[in-house]
Amino acid sequence: MENILLVKYGEIAMRGKNRYLVENRLISIIIKNLENYGNYRVYKEQGRLLVKCETGEFDYETVIPKVVNILGVVAVCPGVEIQEKNMENIRDVALKHMRKQHGEKKITFKVETKRSDKQFPLDSREVSADIGGFVLNSMDNLTVDVHSPDVILTVELRNSAYVYSSLIKGFGGLPVGSSGKATVLMSGGIDSPVAAFMTAKRGVEIDAVYFDSPPHTSERARQKVIDLAEKLSLYTGKFNLYVVPFTEVQHYLYNNVPPEKITIFLKRAMIKSAEKIALENGSLALITGDSVGQVASQTMQAINSINSAAKELTILRPLCGFDKQEIVDLAKKIDTFEISIRPYEDCCTVFVPKHPETKPKKSIIEKIEKSLSELDDLITESCENKKVF
Ligand code: ATP
Ligand code: MG
Repeated sequence: MENILLVKYGEIAMRGKNRYLVENRLISIIIKNLENYGNYRVYKEQGRLLVKCETGEFDYETVIPKVVNILGVVAVCPGVEIQEKNMENIRDVALKHMRKQHGEKKITFKVETKRSDKQFPLDSREVSADIGGFVLNSMDNLTVDVHSPDVILTVELRNSAYVYSSLIKGFGGLPVGSSGKATVLMSGGIDSPVAAFMTAKRGVEIDAVYFDSPPHTSERARQKVIDLAEKLSLYTGKFNLYVVPFTEVQHYLYNNVPPEKITIFLKRAMIKSAEKIALENGSLALITGDSVGQVASQTMQAINSINSAAKELTILRPLCGFDKQEIVDLAKKIDTFEISIRPYEDCCTVFVPKHPETKPKKSIIEKIEKSLSELDDLITESCENKKVF
């Protein structure tokens, strides 16, 4: 009998040859998230993962939040493993578990059995009835309620048997790595980290690009983006953050395009630069934190004028239908909000025009851009000077 954490993950993405890769990736994220907290190991067990503590006590309070928030994890269940799975052992362990977890208060309960081991001599109804009867007779504080019990005591029959009575839900989604790759344009703002999270939640592996404009933006503005990436990696696993020096490009645009259009050109330059990096790292799309109508550069006309900067890749905008409040709520839920609101300037606010054009015409923007003879070289140079974190 051993304390374990049972990890349930989305099965849909797990069909065929993907399964092996995706499971291994989940395992490596769990190991990474737990590496500083004790001697934990992760095992595969027929459609589940098991976290075990190899030495000392299992510290559920520390481990659960580090595992349950990984994308693709549907739920985690703190429980007990019974390697020799006969009814006598299961009864014994189920009772000990219930006494330990629910020994005091008066509660209602029922037993559910999942019988993946088709060789097991009893069927799932018989196991539930047997264990339920045994536990009920041995504890005074329990009554049975099969419709809405306070506690569901679950018995899973796999290679070993498992007993648990609480389930903590995760974000669900598809495990990262099961749906290709994308590159996120990540500022230090509230929106783009949420866009990154939403994308990763659909199983897309992400890398991120940040455009840095020293000395107009500070070291601390950059650190903010690094901290955001670090936070996101708890959900997604490790990824690359490319920091691209963009000051030269910005100065060039500032001196060569009409001031009311600068934001559009700047965004186009970011897209061009991000696309170069994305094509090198195997991405199939670019992701931004745009939400339609939020600011001057996010009107439909502006979005249309910016979009054509990408020549090969699709630009996805996962927040396009969200209100600011909905984005803020999600940012709080994934714990990026407090980092995002640190008060450091970003490169767009430094060059923000007094009267930005809200309805730019794509044809005019593209025509002006053709006359910007040094732009492509400056963009190429900025990408070459990127730093990887
Ligand atoms: P955010 O909250 O993500 O900063 P925002 O509401 O401030 O977004 P904008 O500043 O117009 O809106 O930026 C729109 C999108 O452009 C961002 O969500 C992000 O994807 C991208 N972006 C803007 N600035 C940068 C930057 N310095 N580096 C990388 N991407 C950027
Ligand atoms: Mg911003």
